[in-house]
Amino acid sequence: MNEAYDIATHNGILTLNNPATGNHRTFSIRTQPDDSKFAPGQRVLALLSGSNNEQDYQSFAFVQPDGTVRLFGSKKDDSLWAKYADMVAFPLKWQAKGVEYMFSGRCRRCNRILSTPWSIKLGLGEHCAKKLGIRAGMG
Ligand SMILES: [Zn+2]
Repeated sequence: MNEAYDIATHNGILTLNNPATGNHRTFSIRTQPDDSKFAPGQRVLALLSGSNNEQDYQSFAFVQPDGTVRLFGSKKDDSLWAKYADMVAFPLKWQAKGVEYMFSGRCRRCNRILSTPWSIKLGLGEHCAKKLGIRAGMG
């Protein structure tokens, strides 16, 4: 999906993986409902920050119509949030450094969101893979 990902165009769950370091981070980009109290109609970028990849997202920036990312005021002086925003906004730059961009998709057995590189490549969550006799971490 690397070629197809364009922050100006796509909402979804995106996992960024750095095979060199073994680190990965999962982000969601979604549009606030029109009746939302917070930023109705705006696209919000959030980081997966807990164990529930359906719910545990910490919002930190707006995705603007031109595809640029604007950090929330409370996050704008923090270099880590700035780095995350940069990584989501500029895939070509970070792909050149070896970062993989993966749309998360869902487990083909239980339909839950997949948010680790291993699970995304396999198309199964770790729990379901184990039920099918596939060991995590092989791949
Ligand atoms: Zn599953």
